[in-house]
Amino acid sequence: NFLSAVVPPGETGVRFADVGALEDVKKALNELVILPMKRPGLFSRGNLLRPSKGILLFGPPGTGKTLLGKALAAEAGANFISITGSTLTSKWFGDAEKLTKALFSFASKLAPVIIFVDEVDSLLGARGGAFEHEATRRMRNEFMAAWDGLRSKDSERILILGATNRPFDLDDAVVRRLPRRIYVDLPDAENRMKILKVLLAQENLDTEFQYEKLANATEGYSGSDLKNLCIAAAYRPVQELLEEEDKGSQNVSQAIRGLNLDDFIQ
Ligand code: ATP
Repeated sequence: NFLSAVVPPGETGVRFADVGALEDVKKALNELVILPMKRPGLFSRGNLLRPSKGILLFGPPGTGKTLLGKALAAEAGANFISITGSTLTSKWFGDAEKLTKALFSFASKLAPVIIFVDEVDSLLGARGGAFEHEATRRMRNEFMAAWDGLRSKDSERILILGATNRPFDLDDAVVRRLPRRIYVDLPDAENRMKILKVLLAQENLDTEFQYEKLANATEGYSGSDLKNLCIAAAYRPVQELLEEEDKGSQNVSQAIRGLNLDDFIQ
């Protein structure tokens, strides 16, 4: 299961340049992860600059947490393993404890590696009281024990990067192990413009197209919402052309027209 989920450095297909906006987040990740992984010698003395074993990305859905994780691995030259809280706890995968042990021993062989734990709240959420599933409890304890057990040599080269939309649901013991917490916020108009510029970089845009207008008209949109909006918009000129063809028009242009604001805002 893990093997199929491992992506070698540079093969995640995304770099920081593909993540629009979030400049402060990228800067923090550079200091906390990329530099220590690439230049361990600079961080090995003293205690103050010891790299973190765990970082939490939290914020609303669709704000680019997974995208950041993938880009981070590529930038740091690390392997990338992605697991979802519900995968490890799923009863279909049998013994969650064994799987957890396997994950960590595998990770030390793959180091440097970033283990991205999406929905970390569902894997390591607050203790569920009397009704909590016994298997979930055991798996959580196993996960934390394995995490604590990373030898100091490995700890600099294995990073747990948790992501959640529900930080308040996390177990205190888990929060303590994720000492660096980075808020990934919804973009404001200026940042929506930056994201749109990344998403539409390869598209054919009408000469009249204005990023600023689109950014102002998409209040409340996450990066993921913007992506979906762009996909739908990019389809419209193609759809028009197909409709023209269907109508049997004689002079159907082969060139697909550039995108304009109306394609996005209907
Ligand atoms: P969730 O909390 O729902 O898992 P998430 O925060 O992990 O969401 P992603 O899965 O990374 O969000 O975002 C979904 C998609 O939205 C990305 O694959 C990307 O195409 C687009 N996207 C989101 N944020 C950005 C951004 N800042 N720049 C460019 N694309 C973005």
